[in-house]
Amino acid sequence: MAQVESFSLDHTKVKAPYVRKAGVYTGPKGDKVSKFDLRFTQPNKEFMNSAGMHALEHLMATYMRDYLEDIIDLSPMGCRTGFYLTVWGEPDVKDIISGLEKTLKEVVKATEVPATTEVQCGNYLEHSLEEAVGYANKLLSQGISDKVFG
Ligand code: ZN
Repeated sequence: MAQVESFSLDHTKVKAPYVRKAGVYTGPKGDKVSKFDLRFTQPNKEFMNSAGMHALEHLMATYMRDYLEDIIDLSPMGCRTGFYLTVWGEPDVKDIISGLEKTLKEVVKATEVPATTEVQCGNYLEHSLEEAVGYANKLLSQGISDKVFG
């Protein structure tokens, strides 16, 4: 069976919200790709609603590229406690936190969710701007740590 990095993280020990470097991968030509765990809520205690998290995904995908370079992908975690961010290179966790905070400050000012048509999204009716803004505000007020275990 394959070893999945995040399955070996003890989710009972972490203290959200935090950003963690989950792995660095090297391609055959030497290119580096880094994956970050952006943990918004405390695992097994609190999770985001689907509509709010989905809206937050669309908003972050739009704004984050203004503040962080070389983004490959931002994807929601199935447990709805956070997102995975994949980028080229090996940026520092602190740079990701700084970019994430700037992104969230844009999210709280948003008046609509981007790309919410049947053509652009696979579940276009399931978006809550109000919840997304609430999650972003909560995260900004809590502060995002670079320490996984508090
Ligand atoms: Zn969508």
